Amino acid sequence: MAFNEIVKMHEDLDRALRKPVSKRSWVMVIDVRKCVGDRACVVACMAENVCPPGTSYRWVFETEFRGYPNLDKFYMPGNCQHCDNPPCMKAANKLKNGTIKKRPDGIVVFDYEKLKKSPDAREAAKKACPYYAIVDDNGGYYTDNTPILEPYETRTFYEDNERLTRKKTKGTIRKCTFCLHRLESGMIPACVSTCIGRAMYFGDKSDPKSLVSELIKKEDVWNPKAKLGTKPRVYYIGYKDRANIATSTSATCQVCHQ
Ligand code: SF4
Ligand code: SF4
Repeated sequence: MAFNEIVKMHEDLDRALRKPVSKRSWVMVIDVRKCVGDRACVVACMAENVCPPGTSYRWVFETEFRGYPNLDKFYMPGNCQHCDNPPCMKAANKLKNGTIKKRPDGIVVFDYEKLKKSPDAREAAKKACPYYAIVDDNGGYYTDNTPILEPYETRTFYEDNERLTRKKTKGTIRKCTFCLHRLESGMIPACVSTCIGRAMYFGDKSDPKSLVSELIKKEDVWNPKAKLGTKPRVYYIGYKDRANIATSTSATCQVCHQ
């Protein structure tokens, strides 16, 4: 992703924000050819969302295939897939209504207050998610047992446009929010803006002129668990090209890294 693609994503975002929420359709596109496995996205997400110790809304799996001397290794970043048919929502809401909701723009949101009151709904949601995208907030801090809790752990932060502190999220389950608070302020998600391999894209799929729509139309898209019928909103591209990339020369890096 070149600099002009970041500008384009922000222009796409501006256009989307001028439409009613129900007309927006947020999706993420991840190009596995470009992920360099540095995990800057993971750190950015943890900082943005003040994640509890030992947890992250994001992961970057390392994948290897073929053997020596043709070993190929690549990285698969991921987060909550904001499924259009979310198993977490079905499982949790069966036990306590309204704990998990699907917004008209596609984002799956948790109601922390309702989830705090229902351990069964929390467990059911975690078990039902085929992507293992849900984490517990058990209330601990990285700086527990030190002279003071560091301000970066006790600061306020925003999720789903709600002002929070860790005190409010203690005792619930959490996950990626597609950085809704940033989107509605005209900024792309923290993980997308931080990616140094420029492997991640975000935008409005209902806008045919958006960069994400162009990529989804142009590329073969794939999702590791699409067969489960969850209808994920995270699209992986560049997956089929892995075999070619593995045997390519350094000059072909220009294909992806403009
Ligand atoms: S990825 Fe998991 S947590 Fe996210 S919407 Fe789908 S089932 Fe729910
Ligand atoms: S979109 Fe935001 S909340 Fe979701 S993984 Fe990226 S940084 Fe984390």
